[in-house]
Parts: sequence; C-alpha cells; structure tokens
Amino acid sequence: MDAPNIVVVGGGFAGVEAARGLERSLAPGDARITLVSPTDYQLYLPLLPHVAAGVVTPQSVAPSLRRILRRTELLPGSVIGVDPEAKVCVVRKITGELVDVSYDYLLLTPGSVTRTFDIPGLLDEARGMKTLAQAVCLRDHVIGQLDLAAATSDEAERTARLQFVVVGGGYAGTETAACLQRLTTAAAKRYHPRLDPGLIQWHLVDVAPKLLPELGDRLGASALRMLSERGVRISLKTSVASVTEDKVTLTDGRVLPSRTLVWTAGVAASPLVDSLGAETVRGRILAGPDFKVPGLDGVLALGDAAAVPDLAKGDGSYCVPTAQHAARQGRHAARNVTALLRGQPTTPYRHKDLGLVVDLGGHDAVSKPLGIDLKGVAAQVVARGYHLYALRTGTARFRTGANWLLNAVAGDDFVRTGFLDDREGTLRDFEHTDMYLTREEVTARVRG
Ligand SMILES: Cc1cc2nc3c(=O)[nH]c(=O)nc-3n(C[C@H](O)[C@H](O)[C@H](O)COP(=O)(O)OP(=O)(O)OC[C@H]3O[C@@H](n4cnc5c(N)ncnc54)[C@H](O)[C@@H]3O)c2cc1C
Repeated sequence: MDAPNIVVVGGGFAGVEAARGLERSLAPGDARITLVSPTDYQLYLPLLPHVAAGVVTPQSVAPSLRRILRRTELLPGSVIGVDPEAKVCVVRKITGELVDVSYDYLLLTPGSVTRTFDIPGLLDEARGMKTLAQAVCLRDHVIGQLDLAAATSDEAERTARLQFVVVGGGYAGTETAACLQRLTTAAAKRYHPRLDPGLIQWHLVDVAPKLLPELGDRLGASALRMLSERGVRISLKTSVASVTEDKVTLTDGRVLPSRTLVWTAGVAASPLVDSLGAETVRGRILAGPDFKVPGLDGVLALGDAAAVPDLAKGDGSYCVPTAQHAARQGRHAARNVTALLRGQPTTPYRHKDLGLVVDLGGHDAVSKPLGIDLKGVAAQVVARGYHLYALRTGTARFRTGANWLLNAVAGDDFVRTGFLDDREGTLRDFEHTDMYLTREEVTARVRG
C-alpha cells in the first residue's frame, strides 16, 4: 500500500513545527510529507518592525525552510481551495499554474491576513506589517518621505510627508511606531539638519481605551509614557474615518495631512478558510482541542487560522493568535497526526501563556515573562533574549545578534533599497487576498 500523504499548508510557526515534528516521529516510509508555502523561508514576524527600522536585515528573520526541514517536500505556491470530500487541495504554484494535490491528512496553518474594515481608501492607501516585502517597502517609503520633504519648497507637502500615522495599539502597531519613530529621528538628525525636527510627527491610534491591553494596565501605561516622552502622539478610543493619498481623517474629526498610514489593527484568518465549508469562530476555523476540524475527515487546523479552545484558561475562550501558541500547536499536531496514523488516541493541546515582550527600540521595552512586570533595560534584555531563543536556526540567531550589535555600534545609513519601487506597497498590493477560489469553484474544478 502507498504511504499516506500528509500535506501541510503554510510554512510559518505552526506549519514548520508540525512538519519538523512529523519528520522526527515518523520513519521515511511511514508517510510522505509535503509543505505548501509561497516562500522558502519561515518568517519570524515579531522582528518585522526591526526590519522596517533597518536594525536587522531581512535575511536575518527569514530562516531557510530547507535548513530546518530534512525530508519534507516543498511545493512553492499557495493553496487556494480545498475540497474536503474529495480530499484534494488546489495549489497555485508561484508560476500561476494550478495543480491538484491529494491528501490523507491535511494540516491547515495558513496564518492570518491584516484585518481591514470598510473604511474609504483603506485598501488602496494603507500599508501593512505582515510580510517581509511590506516591512522592506515601508522602510523605503518612510526614508523616501524624509528625502522628499527635504527636497521640496512646498510647506504643505513637507508637513504631509513628515506626519506618519500607525493604527493599532497592540504589539505589532506599537513596536512599528516606536521603531520607525527612532529611525526618522536619527535619520533627520544625521542627514537632514535643515528639516525642522518638530515637523516630524508620529501618531499611534487605537479604538481601544488602552495601549497594549495584552500586557495589563501597568505595563500598558509604562509603554504609553515611554512613547509620549519620545514625542509619539497617542490617540485612544479613536479610529480612522477615511484616508486619501495625502490625508488621514480620524473619527474624532481631526484631519492629519499625511502620506503614510500603517494599518495593524488586528488580524483575520486566511481567506482560504471560506472554501472549506467548516464552522468558524470570528473567521477562524473551529477546531477541537486536538486540532481536528469537526465534520472534515483528516483535516486539522492550528495557528492563527484556527480557533483552538484554550484549555489552560478553561473559560471557554480560544487561544490568542500568537507565535507562542502557533509553534507549540505545530509540535503537538505532529504528535496527534502520528497517533492517528498508528491508530492511537489523540491528546488535547494545553499551554499556559508565558507572557509577552514588546521592544520599543533602544533601551525602551516592556515585557511580562511568566507574569513578572519588567520595563526598560531589564525588559529589553528579556525581549531580545526571547527573540534569539525563538528564532528557528542558529544562523538566524547569529545574523540577528550580529545585526543588533552592528546597528548599536555603527548606526544606520538610511538608504532606500528601491527593489520594490514598482509596487505600491499597500494592503491591496501585498496580501493577495483575491487569489482564492469559492467553494463552488473548487468543487467544479476537482470533481469536474
Ligand atoms: C509585527 C508583528 C509582531 C508580532 N509579535 C509577536 C510577538 O512578539 N509574540 C508572539 O507570540 N506573536 C507575535 N506576533 C504574532 C505571530 O507572528 C503570529 O501569531 C504567528 O506568526 C502565527 O503563526 P502561524 O503559523 O499561524 O502563521 P504564520 O506564521 O503567519 O505563517 C503562515 C504561513 O502560511 C503561508 N501561507 C499563507 N497563505 C497560504 C496559502 N494559501 N497556502 C500556503 N501557504 C500559505 C504564509 O506565507 C506563511 O508562511 C506578531 C505578528 C506581527 C505581524
């Protein structure tokens, strides 16, 4: 009999740990493992703000899948639809060609996309912080705004180019605003002494009443104080009403002349979820505590894309979408698939949150390891130590550590790479949310 096919969708925290776990627990003849991913690296998203700020290079946070996985077959592309009855997924290769791939077990770990709302102009003007290209493009854009502001004699244009708006007071938005504010301050001081530093303004906007609610009241307030002292203007209980090429209108009526809106207001599950016909919880696939998707034979869902019950909390809530959960779920899912192949019972996932680290650049940080509140240098040491530990390969750790050191010693040259000059860099441009097939299209293609 042929060995069963295990297909892993996505090469992020959950997918890579699942594939690596399967390689470890199964002998080569036990199963064929295929991982479908549009990239050949595992992106370490928590350090994307450092990439945008130029503190680390893009390669440092993108360890090679081939270095991590030994015998998993890599299929370069994206799964754009699944027919759970025929047990087939439709893969769009990076060339655009469509192929059907059969599976016996399917591990769905496609992660999430930026959550957007029906705000006029948002998809065409806002920039996200979910992919390596978005981080690199944002860096180029921000440096470009300083260069253009310095080159113009039009005061209105200069004002708009030097105001930056970040929406989302969670860790992604707060770190992005903090790291890029340091970049613009340092770049202006070093290369644009004639620009009035008072014109460079960063705004951090969130509809919630607190910053970093995940860290609790005290640390959230500390982060707010650190950022305010650095000149970041924080507007809580506020959102964006509309955005155009050169202005952002807030829900409190203020109109900010600006050519930069960074949108990090939460995540939504991958649009792939829609083609499954599975039950969802706020867009995430409803999975059992052992990741099995009810009603879909052989399908397991985990990571940001899945709503997995948080048994450690035991209050009926679901695991929050973090790398911490995704990686551990990946390892646990590998054990459960191995058990299923051997006709053994699966086990439920349970993990108590270890806390969160938020790096605000320089010596500023807040973190809460194992429930202990830390801020300043101590928090920074914990944050960077955690990132080095969590990066998947020794090479990535070494590159990141060396980059931090180099940046601390030699600073940044603030150059634009220009590689993505022909891309807008907006949410519509980068997140490819329109490539997926509908359920009907998948059925018609697979079953004829
Ligand atoms: C800026 C930022 C900072 C963060 N900081 C932290 C932090 O400090 N701590 C923390 O715990 N979490 C943090 N997170 C959240 C964390 O990164 C996510 O929760 C985690 O990446 C989820 O893992 P995942 O495996 O579910 O998805 P991902 O890691 O996003 O991986 C999904 C993978 O699937 C691929 N993919 C997508 N669609 C398809 C498809 N259709 N077919 C095939 N492959 C597909 C993607 O290319 C990607 O490789 C941060 C996130 C961001 C954006």
